[in-house]
Amino acid sequence: MSQPMECPRCEVISPPGTAVCDCGYVFSAAGDATEYAKQTTRMLVSGVVFTVLGWGAFALLYFVLFDVIKTPVARLSFGLLIPGPALLLNGLRRLIRKPS
Ligand SMILES: [Zn+2]
Repeated sequence: MSQPMECPRCEVISPPGTAVCDCGYVFSAAGDATEYAKQTTRMLVSGVVFTVLGWGAFALLYFVLFDVIKTPVARLSFGLLIPGPALLLNGLRRLIRKPS
């Protein structure tokens, strides 16, 4: 653990002791498969939560801003649609690309 860690996936060199690469790869010494699976599950769960909350908030905001107040600011609420699915997608990508 005293030498720089090279990520086998993206080939970026990380400082010694780094647990997770910027690309999401978990170095095997620090994070084994169970830790990786735990993180993936957490991402998927928060992805679902953020999707439900975000889309719910979007529906409400969009209705109030656009239909009731009639302001073009309503378009900003589209931003609420993004974080949930993005997290979900990341989690799914981790499910598919397991660390080797
Ligand atoms: Zn990497």
